[in-house]
Parts: sequence; C-alpha cells; structure tokens
Amino acid sequence: MSIMAIRIFGDPVLRTPAIEVVDFDRELRQLVKDLTDTMLNAPGAGLAAPQIGVGLRVFTYHVDDEPGHLINPSLDLSSEMQDGEEGCLSFPGIFFDTPRALRLVAKGFNQYGEPVMLEGSELMARCIQHETDHLDGILFIDRMDKAQRKLAMKAIRDAEWAGQEPPTIKVSPHAAFGTGR
Ligand code: ZN
Repeated sequence: MSIMAIRIFGDPVLRTPAIEVVDFDRELRQLVKDLTDTMLNAPGAGLAAPQIGVGLRVFTYHVDDEPGHLINPSLDLSSEMQDGEEGCLSFPGIFFDTPRALRLVAKGFNQYGEPVMLEGSELMARCIQHETDHLDGILFIDRMDKAQRKLAMKAIRDAEWAGQEPPTIKVSPHAAFGTGR
C-alpha cells in the first residue's frame, strides 16, 4: 500500500499537460495502484497522476462501488449540461458549483493496454471530466462561471494551505516515474 503526497494548488505540476502512456508495463500498474490507494485513503472520488507529481495521462475514479482507472482518455461529451458542487483533492475544503456536461462516453485503455469504454452521467460524468482536465493542466476553477470563480479564489486565499511551498518536483515526468519508490 503506497499513499503518495497529493500536490496542492500552486504546485506547477498541476498546470503541466501530461503525456500519453506508451509503455503498459509493471511501473504503470504500480502507478495505478498508488493512485488508487492514495485516492481511497484521502478519500476522494478521483485522482489524476499529476496530482501525485507524475506527468502521465492516467487517472483513477471511485464513484460507484468499484474503483476504476483510465489511461490516455478521450471524451465525447453531451451538449446537455449539469450544475452541481465540485471539489478537488488539490484544493482541500474548497467546494463550488461547476458546470459540466451531463453525460459522456470515455474511451481509453486499462493498465494492461486493453481498450476500454465507459459511459457515465451526473456524478460519474463530472468526475471523468474533472480528472481528464487534470491531464491537460486544467483545474475546476477554470470551469466555474465568473461569480463562482471569484468566490472560490477568495476561499483559496483564505485557506490555511494557501501559499504553501510546493514539494520539490523532478522535472521530467519519466524521470519521476518509477523511481524513488
Ligand atoms: Zn482534482
């Protein structure tokens, strides 16, 4: 069981687009396990690799019974939207309304490199969009409307973790991947 440190807003790794996974190897499966353990321990509904400092297009989710993961995701979003409260493990204690597509179809791969497809609506769709955004360096505050974002930014400035020194980051996602653990 490996619980990793979750990077907090302000850490540049959260704004860095992640790269596609090409090697579906043992290290990748270890990453999926680390993400799953860290997400369940938090606990959270989802966790993307950049949130533990790894710049690869991998995330885990836990909305229904079983935790799952998706690698190199691509999303097909409904035009119909939903609104509702959203949070992020990289923004402890911050929850604000964030508009999202109501439904989606997500395609990608599992940890063995097999193609997978999942469909989701409401909370599941929200989670998958949120985590996929992380892989592009996009954060939920970017998806809020102007008024909500203003409130969120104030709450962030007032948060006890605001301005916290981010942990040291190894520069290349591959240099950090599979080393030092
Ligand atoms: Zn998040």
